[in-house]
Amino acid sequence: MTESDLRGPELEELRGEVAETTKAIIGLVAKRIELAKRIGQVKSRDSLPIDNEGVEDALLEDVLAECRSLGLDEQLGTKILGTLLAESKKVQRMQGTPKPKQLITPMVMMAKAKEVERTGRRLIRLDVGEPDFHPPEAVIEAVSGALRAYKTYYTVGRGVPELLTALKGYLARRYGYRDAADDQLSVTPGGRFAVYSALATVASEGDSVVVIEPNWPAYKEGLEYVGARAISVRTTLEEKWEPSPERVKEAIRPNTKAIVLSYPANPTGKVMGKGAFKEIVGTADDLGLTVISDEIYNDYAYAPCPTILECLPRKYILTSSFSKGWSMTGFRVGWSFAPAETSARMLKILGLMITCVPEFVQLGAAKALECEAEVSHNSRVMKERIDATTEELAKIDALELVKPEGSIYAFPQARSETFDSSAFAMDLLEKKGVTVSPGTGFGDYPRCFRISLGQPQQVLTAGVRKIGELLG
Ligand code: PMP
Repeated sequence: MTESDLRGPELEELRGEVAETTKAIIGLVAKRIELAKRIGQVKSRDSLPIDNEGVEDALLEDVLAECRSLGLDEQLGTKILGTLLAESKKVQRMQGTPKPKQLITPMVMMAKAKEVERTGRRLIRLDVGEPDFHPPEAVIEAVSGALRAYKTYYTVGRGVPELLTALKGYLARRYGYRDAADDQLSVTPGGRFAVYSALATVASEGDSVVVIEPNWPAYKEGLEYVGARAISVRTTLEEKWEPSPERVKEAIRPNTKAIVLSYPANPTGKVMGKGAFKEIVGTADDLGLTVISDEIYNDYAYAPCPTILECLPRKYILTSSFSKGWSMTGFRVGWSFAPAETSARMLKILGLMITCVPEFVQLGAAKALECEAEVSHNSRVMKERIDATTEELAKIDALELVKPEGSIYAFPQARSETFDSSAFAMDLLEKKGVTVSPGTGFGDYPRCFRISLGQPQQVLTAGVRKIGELLG
């Protein structure tokens, strides 16, 4: 006996209507794609860009109004529009519009540099964002001891009790924050995963998230990966890389779910003023948005640096890592701190993808939190490098720089308005054996490039002098 025999003709009839409606939707989608194709041809003919934020914003407003009038969930409308826009862009790109050039992000530059190094050529590596310090000796001891004690099995996803307790102690000591609970923390494979799981938890297809440029490219890439859009608030060297809270507010759209802040900043070394930071967090809180605060460079701050823990909104995710302060990039260990319910959603992604961070690595990270002297040393040396490299860069007339107030980078800008930092980076690699990361990897900054200060000063000085030679 079939299901229709059991339930009668009503269900069959409804199913028939559903099938017809679905076919009609597909027919409309086909029509929409046909229109997108024609738009793509016009754009290609007239050399117009594919992206048009104004048009997308207007369409979003229309869709949300339609959802409201039909009593349809607005999030569903946003998601469907997100899919339609993505398809349109794909089709438009196939209509002959020149493909956007591959961006030379720090990861792309690192791969290129390693390729050249494999040929035997020695390079001055100022591209990769990692400090050259050794990890604390006590961490090496703790990890070796943990391996010898066979701490080599699965742990709970969130993290081992030793590390969670150590992190709570760290939050109390470092920030005076004493209310952290285990279920607000999770231990991640690096800050990168903490950031990705934060983005994937707050934003999905069709949503948007405000980011401040220039910034670490993984925010935008992570958002693209989940089908969401990064809305960039541009800052400039002329404004000392200071974001204006008003401009951040203006960037917020009806589908915006979060604002990403990260200070001290990669690549500029900017430390945002506490007043502006609080104002942006207040705006987010008023609108019910999440603030994602990536505080990975907090040990390298040479001006009073704001932290989300000082002004917690209702929705927040703090991400951090052992990679920079402790120089433990290869250990791949970071952490996040968020309200328990958000943390549980982030943990789901982690559990699904990697189960847990290796236990011996987690025990090394717990030990790292006792190594304050090493972190202070790293921080002091980095400050000296910022001072010395800023002086060295000031000797190059072709460049301008806002002296970094933190992080481990300098982000000079060429005075020439036609400077192409991607071409320059390739030239510098070829002719002088020095690698830097072009500014276009961090946003629309073709005149800038990033110098990583993760090298001893004599290497930095030699590298900067070669940059000066090439710039004439
Ligand atoms: N956030 C920022 C701003 C970064 O620059 C980086 C690394 N360059 C990360 C997060 C991630 O670092 P990791 O995964 O090594 O912790």
